[in-house]
Amino acid sequence: MDRSYDAIVVGSGATGGWAAKQLTESGLRVALLEAGQSPSPDQDTTDARAGASERQPIQSQCYAYTPETSHLFVDDLDNPYSCPEDAPFNWIRGRQIGGRLHTWAGMSVRMSDYQFKAASNDGIGEDWPISHADLAPYYGLVERYLKVSGTRARLPQLPDGLFLEPQPPSAAEQGFKSAVERRWPTRAVTTGRLAQIPADATLAAAQRTGRLTLFPNSVASRVLTDTGGYRARAVAFVDRPTGHEREVDAGVIFLCASTIESTRLLLNSASSDHPTGLGNSCGVLGHFLMDHTFGVGVGGVVPRASGGGPRLFGDCITPAFRNITEPEVEFIRGYGIQTHLRPAERRRLHRLRRRVRPGGGRFWMQSFGEVLPRFENHISVDPDAVDAWGIPAARIECRYGENELQMAADQLHCSTEMAEAAGFHVDESHQALAPPGSSVHELGTARMGSDRSSSVLNRHNQSWDVPNLFVTDGSCFTSSGFQNPTLTMMAITARACDFAIEQLRAASDFGA
Ligand SMILES: Cc1cc2nc3c(=O)[nH]c(=O)nc-3n(C[C@H](O)[C@H](O)[C@H](O)COP(=O)(O)OP(=O)(O)OC[C@H]3O[C@@H](n4cnc5c(N)ncnc54)[C@H](O)[C@@H]3O)c2cc1C
Repeated sequence: MDRSYDAIVVGSGATGGWAAKQLTESGLRVALLEAGQSPSPDQDTTDARAGASERQPIQSQCYAYTPETSHLFVDDLDNPYSCPEDAPFNWIRGRQIGGRLHTWAGMSVRMSDYQFKAASNDGIGEDWPISHADLAPYYGLVERYLKVSGTRARLPQLPDGLFLEPQPPSAAEQGFKSAVERRWPTRAVTTGRLAQIPADATLAAAQRTGRLTLFPNSVASRVLTDTGGYRARAVAFVDRPTGHEREVDAGVIFLCASTIESTRLLLNSASSDHPTGLGNSCGVLGHFLMDHTFGVGVGGVVPRASGGGPRLFGDCITPAFRNITEPEVEFIRGYGIQTHLRPAERRRLHRLRRRVRPGGGRFWMQSFGEVLPRFENHISVDPDAVDAWGIPAARIECRYGENELQMAADQLHCSTEMAEAAGFHVDESHQALAPPGSSVHELGTARMGSDRSSSVLNRHNQSWDVPNLFVTDGSCFTSSGFQNPTLTMMAITARACDFAIEQLRAASDFGA
């Protein structure tokens, strides 16, 4: 047993890094458990290059996976999971200090009440127990810290943030925006909203307080509770170098290990007091797994007349218009389209063995569509598989439904017509959705809600059943929206930390 801390945070990625920073800056002594260590490109890349195809068959499906980045993705053999044969799920992970902030593209967009309150509009799923107004101050806090650049656009479905000035738009971006908005007054195009700070910034801030104890190579295996199961008391973890199981205890516990990992941890923490998983009196833990539709899109050439040339693009966003400004469609919810020429695009072309012309000249339009929350899309513990540390592995079962398939066909149609309206020459068209998980926006499985009988967490990300336990990564999402989710995860983490700190300051017994 390690000495006591005020708080434990599990996971040091986007959400755990933020939690560690905010909790330590408020004066708390924090133990941060992280399954990986600092990424070391030289050594890891050599190893991964030698065995990438055998050891990373799933990770190598990610569009950002290259020999140079392979060390930032997990070893699939050490970190197994299972799926039904007819329902593959691409679970793309990074196990290192900083998590997937080493590989993310930084697109940082707010969700709006069109997404938070979508269920009230169309009757599917549940509303979130919070609205944009609840999150707005925390969005602002995180945006300032991440130095998000963007243009104020006054779009109700994509609220503006506290932005730094973006780079001035290129001729191609301007041409694309004016062509689309002229032809479809119901569609808007705005500048990409991009974060610009290094992956280790939040952890470095936490370390500067002198109150952070980082436990690298520490794979959390279970959350332990006191007699009766009313409070979480400690986290058990496997120390990778020795293989020994250890425990660390604290008054409050934040799970930030990423969507499926945090829920796996809760399921593996089942006990006689919590027989189907910790905090699962509602019976929905593990359920309502979501992602964003991914893989459908068009690419091609931007001719000189449409702004093609040495400086082609940053990123443009066309936020959801279906069921907002254009209601006449057969499906519910919507999708946003992102138009890029970025390193990921270059890597993608490289993999397709296409030539990137010097100075650019090609575009790629990719859309992220809302995946509906369905009870049957769920994770459980695989009774027959354990990871390299003997911890029961996840079993993931997730399928797209008819709504996503209809949406994907519409994504392709609208992307093509918008590219052509801008004078772009489309020479690539991807019609098939990639397996769920491929957008690397996995969400849900420990959702927030206003009713403890149908949600795992309350509006402060606090377990209804175990009040000193918080889950603030993407597991808490009630619906998926169309927005890249990390900014929302971080803002939710900031809000939950504020709440926990207030409770501790008031010296109240959580939930008493
Ligand atoms: C190529 C790529 C591009 C992306 N681009 C964007 C983008 O532009 N915009 C956007 O919004 N999102 C993007 N994402 C998604 C984004 O990276 C994730 O949403 C975000 O990192 C999730 O934060 P997290 O804290 O939940 O998890 P992570 O950042 O994955 O961190 C989880 C941490 O927990 C640790 N951990 C896991 N299990 C355990 C355990 N049992 N014990 C201890 N530690 C554990 C892991 O090692 C890891 O360090 C992208 C992802 C990828 C891969």
